Amino acid sequence: MLDTMFSEDDFVFKKELNSLLDKLLPINWDLYPDETDDFHWKLSKKIKLSLSIKNWIAPSWPKEYGGGGKEITKAIILSETMAYRMSPGNDRFATRMIGPTILKYGTSLQKKKILTEITSGKVQWCQGYSEPNSGSDLASITTKGDYNKETETITINGIKVWTTLANRANRMFILVRSQPGSKRHKGLTFAVLDMNNKGITVNPIKNIAGKFSFNEVILKDVKISSENIIGKLHEGWKIALDLLNFERSGIDYIGWAERCLDDLISYSKKNRLTKNEMIFDSETFKKRVAILKADLESAKIMTYKAIWKKSVSDDIHMEPSMSKILATEINNKVHDYALEILKDKIGFIDEDPQNNFVQRILNHRLFFVSGGILAGTNEIQKNIIAQRGLGFPKS
Ligand SMILES: Cc1cc2nc3c(=O)[nH]c(=O)nc-3n(C[C@H](O)[C@H](O)[C@H](O)COP(=O)(O)OP(=O)(O)OC[C@H]3O[C@@H](n4cnc5c(N)ncnc54)[C@H](O)[C@@H]3O)c2cc1C
Repeated sequence: MLDTMFSEDDFVFKKELNSLLDKLLPINWDLYPDETDDFHWKLSKKIKLSLSIKNWIAPSWPKEYGGGGKEITKAIILSETMAYRMSPGNDRFATRMIGPTILKYGTSLQKKKILTEITSGKVQWCQGYSEPNSGSDLASITTKGDYNKETETITINGIKVWTTLANRANRMFILVRSQPGSKRHKGLTFAVLDMNNKGITVNPIKNIAGKFSFNEVILKDVKISSENIIGKLHEGWKIALDLLNFERSGIDYIGWAERCLDDLISYSKKNRLTKNEMIFDSETFKKRVAILKADLESAKIMTYKAIWKKSVSDDIHMEPSMSKILATEINNKVHDYALEILKDKIGFIDEDPQNNFVQRILNHRLFFVSGGILAGTNEIQKNIIAQRGLGFPKS
């Protein structure tokens, strides 16, 4: 499948993208992209603008919105390569989530405005779904979005939480309860808003790796016009779920895992297991790496399939969930094995660049605890596969 899926033109694109990243990323860049850090953020903005000039922010979107007008394989290559290079500047909230959602459900005005703005490389988006008491059970959200027929505005009041990059974002997509007294998935509206609106307070939250990657967002009497509603008023649930399938069909975890495995192999060729044996020459090491590589390839194929299928069909129920589980699990397995190899070096940070690798893998592994939680936990994905995919009854 891999050989037939990508064309000659795709490989040329990958090469050109890598050359551009060679120019834009600092030499020997080997840090996980962390746009909460000021340097990464500056770099992210620069990279986005450079991608925009080439119409590469969203290579598969129509040209009229600043996209590249190319096949979906280009979008896969872009995300996978940027993840492998650990490059900042891939706003997944924009290009993977709200963009494809607008392409599918937006009015022509919304498409023109929102998509063109994304491909300009000048905006950062964030996702306002989770609330203090609504995570896995998204249908229980309580943030109010009261609609006023006369002024055709929605007034939003509530708290969103775990909102990644809300402290950097200028736009948010949000799910609100617009029909007073409505229950569960009924009476919800999906909308977009400007983070500069009056009434929005963003409070950063420190994560397990010591970074302020997510936030609490307090919305107090935030007014948005009805033009910001995506789809119909009170009918946002289906759109919100569809967006989650776009979100779960991500290739990034595969890119990060592959980079970690490749770097571990390079490290194993330069470092010894015992006085007489290089790590790379150990039979156990070779076997473990071979198994990880095989698992990684199968997760990659599943992810390609999910992205491709979602791009051509609406009849997709379990592939995004399957790829999300496989990709996040293999990423953690690869990092776990790297830590097993590096464990004696942990804690010794000095000028030796080899130790930067140790610290990087440790930091990444701590951060990647989140892979099984974000975008809907892996337990929830298994429920989706069982119930929506395979038709098993709900217990
Ligand atoms: C790094 C990170 C970034 C995030 N970024 C964002 C963001 O930008 N925007 C946003 O809106 N949200 C974001 N989230 C929040 C994320 O979507 C939620 O954490 C996730 O949906 C789980 O919700 P919860 O944390 O409330 O856990 P809970 O829903 O309370 O779940 C707790 C545990 O119970 C299990 N569980 C719950 N219900 C079931 C069930 N029915 N069957 C089986 N097991 C179940 C879960 O699997 C989990 O193990 C982010 C989370 C993380 C970790």
